[in-house]
Amino acid sequence: MKLQHSPITCHQFEQIDFYLKRDDLLHPQFSGNKARKFMSLLSLANADIDTLVGHGSPQANSLYSMAALANLRGWKLDFYVDHIPSWLSQNPIGNYRAALALGANIIATRPTYGCSVADYLTQQQWLPNQLFVPEGGRSPIAQSGVNQLAQEILAWMANQPSANWVVALPSGTGTTALYLHQALKQHHIEVVTCACVGGDDYLREQWLSLGEQSHPTILSNGTKHQFGHLYPEQYDLWQKLGDQTEVEFELLYDPLMWQRLLEWWPTQTDRQLLYIHQGGILGNESMLPRYRRQRN
Ligand SMILES: *Cc1c(COP(=O)(O)O)cnc(C)c1O
Repeated sequence: MKLQHSPITCHQFEQIDFYLKRDDLLHPQFSGNKARKFMSLLSLANADIDTLVGHGSPQANSLYSMAALANLRGWKLDFYVDHIPSWLSQNPIGNYRAALALGANIIATRPTYGCSVADYLTQQQWLPNQLFVPEGGRSPIAQSGVNQLAQEILAWMANQPSANWVVALPSGTGTTALYLHQALKQHHIEVVTCACVGGDDYLREQWLSLGEQSHPTILSNGTKHQFGHLYPEQYDLWQKLGDQTEVEFELLYDPLMWQRLLEWWPTQTDRQLLYIHQGGILGNESMLPRYRRQRN
């Protein structure tokens, strides 16, 4: 199975004309940047493996993507989380519900081991049938899938009028932005991103820990964004973005990137923008009720 060549569509938002790489449409279940990051595992030839092992939040986009990957491969998924909130286990929604429906085995460990899940898992000896993937796909296994994304972008740009391109995408671990920058920099294409988790310093640390010295441009206004926190102005921006483009964007990452782009774009002249839609909209199912409760 080959998942590639997601469409590129054309839009306008607040007077900014831009193209949109629709990685949210790669596959009905295995899509977005987690699909790119885990893509090499889709064709991994290792007959011993029958179980994928991951960890993170029970609402993470990576949980759903790993469940989809395991399902496509006929593997089991063991996904470790610190804790499953009782409202979520009583009323599964979003990524959590969809991962369960794909047969994911979601294991809450906090009461059992008394240390963080990440520490516990990194000390584990994995069996030959188990394949461990670091949280959020922060791993060199992500590089080949992100390279494929870069090749699709380059092939598309080669058929466009020549331009001074900017490729924009928000960052969590920064893995996707970093590998994209690596593949595009020799073509003089600037990759811009913003830190949605842990601030600009955290993002630079992640990049250094992946062993890279040359980094994407960080758009920042000096304030630190709290991941998962509700920002009413970001919700408003998300709604406008959806209205003006007729595309549903993701609520945790995309509004911050667009906030930064709206500030930065007027300082640029004669540039063309390609924005990467990194999927994850199933997670909106759990973010939207939180915003709506806050409004009332
Ligand atoms: C995971 C995710 C990101 C962050 O990707 P990184 O490679 O960790 O920077 C951004 N947007 C969406 C929708 C995601 O699911």
